[in-house]
Amino acid sequence: MNNHTTWRGDNVIQIKKPNILFIMCDDHASHAMSCYGSKINATPNIDRIANEGIRFDNCFCTNSICTPSRATILTGLYNHLNGVKTLDDCFDGRQLTFPKLLQQEAYQTAIIGKWHLGHGGESDPTGFDYWNVLPGQGDYHNPEMNEMGESKICDGYVTDIITDKSLDWLISRDKDKPFLLMCHHKAPHRPWEPDIKHAHLYEEIDIPEPETLFDDYANRASAADAATMRIGRDLNKRDLKEDLPEGLSPKEVVQWKYQRYIKDYLRCVASVDDNVGRLLDYLDEDGIADDTIVVYTSDQGFFLGDHGWFDKRFMYEESLRMPFIVRYPREIEAGGVCDFMALNVDFAETFLDYAGIAIPESMQGHSLRPLLRGENPDGWRTSMYYRYWMHCAHHWVYAHYGIRTHRYKLIYYYADPLDANGAVQDPKYPEWELFDLAKDPYEMNNVYHDPNYSVTVQELKKELDLLQWKANDTPYVFV
Ligand code: CA
Repeated sequence: MNNHTTWRGDNVIQIKKPNILFIMCDDHASHAMSCYGSKINATPNIDRIANEGIRFDNCFCTNSICTPSRATILTGLYNHLNGVKTLDDCFDGRQLTFPKLLQQEAYQTAIIGKWHLGHGGESDPTGFDYWNVLPGQGDYHNPEMNEMGESKICDGYVTDIITDKSLDWLISRDKDKPFLLMCHHKAPHRPWEPDIKHAHLYEEIDIPEPETLFDDYANRASAADAATMRIGRDLNKRDLKEDLPEGLSPKEVVQWKYQRYIKDYLRCVASVDDNVGRLLDYLDEDGIADDTIVVYTSDQGFFLGDHGWFDKRFMYEESLRMPFIVRYPREIEAGGVCDFMALNVDFAETFLDYAGIAIPESMQGHSLRPLLRGENPDGWRTSMYYRYWMHCAHHWVYAHYGIRTHRYKLIYYYADPLDANGAVQDPKYPEWELFDLAKDPYEMNNVYHDPNYSVTVQELKKELDLLQWKANDTPYVFV
């Protein structure tokens, strides 16, 4: 028996521990993936994972912003417990993470690409035999990378480089041991700089506009109108890369900027898609596709002109939803779609389960393995808890928490920085929003004050209290 296998109980059934290839992009919204029905692009290589595996249609992040989501994925904890509530919080690498546990169980572990969990010695990756990461946000072209503490400039385009280094590591691994490789792309994060190969993609066409591009933020709490992430007003010269043509009407300005923004975003995605194909091809060539769990996801969703916005942070659908597709031929049937709610707080537990490692009591999520197998587990969650802490930072989004069920979403903009690092000391008067997603999937009409929904509001508030209590978080008290 080599280290790649384990024995279950007294049985003499030899079970091979699966390899785990976790591919995560930064800000890749599911509505820019053709396997999720994108109306604006095609992602044939990423789609292979969904077509040969399973697609989750209700995977949500618990705090829609980069660094906190990454901390949750590693720890299986909500942000108030893993210490990374905002972009300005530094990750304490001493805490328990799933890569550490896999490493202890004879997995080879590596992270290559975006780390984005703070600068300085205490936030270097831990639990990895090999790491080679971008400092901070990293650059698209000729990026600096930090390889095990040594800084180097790498020639080329960041998505290609991260894939090249991932392939190098895979090729040189010990084939007698299972592996965990976290391949974390910078793309398609702002400022959306494409590579030369895709620089002219979509040049001759107009990308379709989202239904809510001209949202006027009526019938909502004041948070939506206050946010400074509007396509028409808040994209800067670095984002747009070209000067605005003269003589455009206000509506035409929004349309022109949307095209500039979305085309570069989709060009960055196209490069990711090509590079996902390279990794999948390697698994085939090496004969390990059947033994490897391949995950494709993003640290959160993103507004692709939806509500007239770019960026994320809000609990609204486009930002809340994470793409989550998984292929593992030994256990997952091809072509599945799962409607159960999955959360980023479940990822760590899922990988531990597949590796045959006991899930620590302290972790707050649940293994998704039954869902991935296509089962309908009794008592699975029907609601989820969300909290965004970074009040008014960067894009002036108010601090909020809330609950989403399959039908409703209740959001409480408590709008207070509290003690969160990087939050702006400018509290606002608290407000609530309720959306009936069955009637209003684009969340354009807040029905919180509609008497027809008063019973629903009371029920959802009770459920919110319960979820917050279960998550060990503290309610906001307005004084
Ligand atoms: Ca992100």
